[in-house]
Amino acid sequence: MDSVRVAVRVRAFNQTEKDAGCVCIISLALNRITIWDPRNRRNTKTFTFDLAYWSHSGFVRNEEGILIPDGPTSKYADQRKVFNDLGQELLSNAWQGYNTTLLAYGQTGSGKSYSMIGYGPDKGIIPLTCDELFKTIKQNQEADKQFQIYFSMLEIYNEKVIDLLSKHPGGLRVRENSQRGFYVEDVKLVPCENYNQIEQLMEEGTRKRTIASTNINVTSSRSHMIITVQFKQVFLKDHLTKQSNINLVDLAGSERQKTSGSEGDRLREGTAINLSLTTLGNVISALAEIAMGKRMLHVPYRNSTLTKLLQPALGGNSKTLMIATVSPADICYEETLSTLRYTERTKNIQNKAVINENATERLVQELKAENAKLQLKITKIRNSGKRVEEETAELRRLLAGNELLLVEIQTSWEQRLEKAQKEWKHQFVNLMQERFMIQMFPYLSNVNVDPQLTAFVRHFIQDGESVVGQSGNFPQAIIIRGLGYVETETNFFKKYRGVVGMPSGSFSKNIAEKHATITNQNSKVSLEPHGQARVILNGVLIHTKVKLAHLDRLILGSNSTYLYVGYPSERNNEDLSKYDYDFFQSELAKVEGFDREALGHMGRNNRSVDPSVLAVLYDYIRVKPMVVEANQISGDLHKDFSFDLEVKNLALTDSRGSDLTKEVMVKVTNKVTDQIWVWSKAKFVNRKFIMEDVYQRFVDGQNISEDRENDPFWDPIEAVHLGSAYVWLQSLSYCIVLEEHVEFRNSQGKEEAILQMNLVPCNPSGQPLGEKEILIDPTELVGHRLDFQVQITRCLGIKWLKENIKRGIQISYRVLNHPYLFHSEPVWNTVNAKVDHTMQFAVKCVSQELLNYLQNHALVLDLWGLQEGCEEMVFPGNFEVTDKGSIIIDYVGSQLLSNKDEDKGDEQFSELYIKLSKLEQETDLLRNINRTLRNDNVMLQTAINKMSDGRE
Ligand code: ADP
Ligand code: MG
Repeated sequence: MDSVRVAVRVRAFNQTEKDAGCVCIISLALNRITIWDPRNRRNTKTFTFDLAYWSHSGFVRNEEGILIPDGPTSKYADQRKVFNDLGQELLSNAWQGYNTTLLAYGQTGSGKSYSMIGYGPDKGIIPLTCDELFKTIKQNQEADKQFQIYFSMLEIYNEKVIDLLSKHPGGLRVRENSQRGFYVEDVKLVPCENYNQIEQLMEEGTRKRTIASTNINVTSSRSHMIITVQFKQVFLKDHLTKQSNINLVDLAGSERQKTSGSEGDRLREGTAINLSLTTLGNVISALAEIAMGKRMLHVPYRNSTLTKLLQPALGGNSKTLMIATVSPADICYEETLSTLRYTERTKNIQNKAVINENATERLVQELKAENAKLQLKITKIRNSGKRVEEETAELRRLLAGNELLLVEIQTSWEQRLEKAQKEWKHQFVNLMQERFMIQMFPYLSNVNVDPQLTAFVRHFIQDGESVVGQSGNFPQAIIIRGLGYVETETNFFKKYRGVVGMPSGSFSKNIAEKHATITNQNSKVSLEPHGQARVILNGVLIHTKVKLAHLDRLILGSNSTYLYVGYPSERNNEDLSKYDYDFFQSELAKVEGFDREALGHMGRNNRSVDPSVLAVLYDYIRVKPMVVEANQISGDLHKDFSFDLEVKNLALTDSRGSDLTKEVMVKVTNKVTDQIWVWSKAKFVNRKFIMEDVYQRFVDGQNISEDRENDPFWDPIEAVHLGSAYVWLQSLSYCIVLEEHVEFRNSQGKEEAILQMNLVPCNPSGQPLGEKEILIDPTELVGHRLDFQVQITRCLGIKWLKENIKRGIQISYRVLNHPYLFHSEPVWNTVNAKVDHTMQFAVKCVSQELLNYLQNHALVLDLWGLQEGCEEMVFPGNFEVTDKGSIIIDYVGSQLLSNKDEDKGDEQFSELYIKLSKLEQETDLLRNINRTLRNDNVMLQTAINKMSDGRE
């Protein structure tokens, strides 16, 4: 039995994390990793793995451009160090004839591809391992021993298997037979003689992957890549073959969408995109439990393509390693923790690897015998006269497969190499040609959201005019295929039935047939967009001809991103990797007025302490292009929905006036009915993937079901949160009646409506208290009963209804810390609503704590927008009530202040407490000023209104 061996690698901060001033929340000692919660340092977790690598700090770039430790005391683990452990272990397994697998697991951007493949001179485990393999072979040449190496490269996306080394588009089939288990049919296995060939194949495969992923820019993080190096040692004298499959798997990004309660999307399971990774998790969990002694659990290998292909690696005939990659940044805490937990589970899995040794002769004999049997069966069936077409077809297929295998076995290594050589030559010519062009012409170099797929596609700009677009029907064309779809209307109808309200005219296209023209005259390059085509240069939308300068950034259509590289004479050996996808998107966001400076005022100081603000910025930059694409997909599919990205809680605070966590959200509008939905980021991202899936099927010419259940655009109509208003409770503690005019402000800080409401202290039967009962000293209230009414009278100037009068509103609020939400009755079809809501509350005995609460907190009222077809909001009402009908509030104070015996650091605590009270006093002062100003404001407003009324 061999346990799966697991390693964890902690990468350096990326640019975004550095910019955001992120804090490292991981420490590493030998093979133990400790991680702490950025919001509570005392909450730490420690994990132990077989190997752990610190690649976060203590490094320099040497003269070859490789990252290495910056001194003898540095604990930095460079690529070589990781290879020396993991790569060498793979090789040692392979030489002994074991199958061996290395899986890279982690969140997108955590360093899976860096570790497996590497970037530029920082070569990863796969290249270093292949290089080493060929070196060792050279040293071990013997007369009667032959070494054979075959290379294959597959991608699994959305359950389809794509051969990255084959010219054919389309997928391959996964089959199963008793001897081989699951296997991929017709995989291209390229025989290789040296390391350079492998390097070239990897480049070719990556290029194919890049081109596939430019259709929809995000697929690579959702696809798995499997590289297999088949290593055979043939002992010619003994007719024996020792064979090892070295599987190297760069898994899809492990990030999960939040699925808690209300965040859970009804369409979560509706897509296959997540299936492989989810199933992998289930398989690992089942195997881990079996290893811990649970009996005979079902292991769901068959549920996904990935797990079928990885069956030997997980609990089967393979020696398996896993490298989990993590970011140590505070903003990645949740994902990193979940990766560490996952990895911990994986290390329990037990495998049974055996040495794969085969006598070639025997294999040939076996295959021949089996074929004879198959032939016999077929003859029998035929003679029986029955028409069993299907059965014979299946037998024939098996027969043909075996014949092929026989031919394969009997084809000599030399013959195969010879065949491969021909292809090599062809590719070599292409490669040389591209190198030549790079030195001759300026070009557009692709920039993908996945840096591993960046700079793989180059469009050279030759002299004269070139037309950039979807179509190749121009003498000099630069063909760019983005999202967007060129089709005739008739075909559209054929494919996409059941479209209601089909607009006439042409569709919106992302990349137009003729999108822009690039002119190269006397070595001066300029670009001119066509018609309404979207062209963004360095973050700015352009409509007229512009000159291109070296390192200009171009976004064509919704999301085809290119870096312009000028003539060789303009190049200065710059580091092009600086211009990554985030660079493009930040630049765009900045022009749109959304950047760190804009958000900066919310940070406490220059470092912008608040990580949530920076997380929001990061989310914004990442989600924005997806929103653009969603709009594009919606347009192409003739859906009536538009999507807008907004930052929620930009201006909302809790009942103490502290900022709430900020997050991005997507506002969805049905442009025909005006109905509005608000989606969380998680829900949007999930829906976007399903939209891509639908879109892909549409482009592939399949019918798309109009089934609501699986429609990513459809959702039941709900009430929309429009904004919040705050009414300070302090007046209650003085038993003063408060008549308030306050604004409902939305998350952008803009006014949504004016609320008129009263907070009225009263006696138990509801009679308002008079002037005489006003308290000079609120502490008199302690120990006594307090009755008060919340009266909502009007809601005026409601923007939601100005936009569309068919709508309605409802107001909800929470009183003190009563668990239930109270609410007004809905009012429909009026901009100025008479609400008429009165509710009476009773506190049987006011405590000092409650008094403090009243002094420092506000009543938060939420304004909800009702729309056609939506249910009015019903809130659970199961309250304790006095005989007079008041709702009883049993105020239970906050745990922090009442838990006296728990905290031992008393002094520290009381010091903090003093600071806190001081801050509270200061806040109170500001709050009072604020309130006076606000009242003045209302008065002025009333005065102005009166004046203008008078004038009329
Ligand atoms: P993944 O494949 O997990 O999505 P990548 O391997 O592409 O992530 O890494 C994302 C970025 O982080 C790349 O720009 C890469 O160069 C950088 N990176 C990842 N790991 C390291 C590391 N150990 N040291 C330095 N840079 C790293
Ligand atoms: Mg990657």
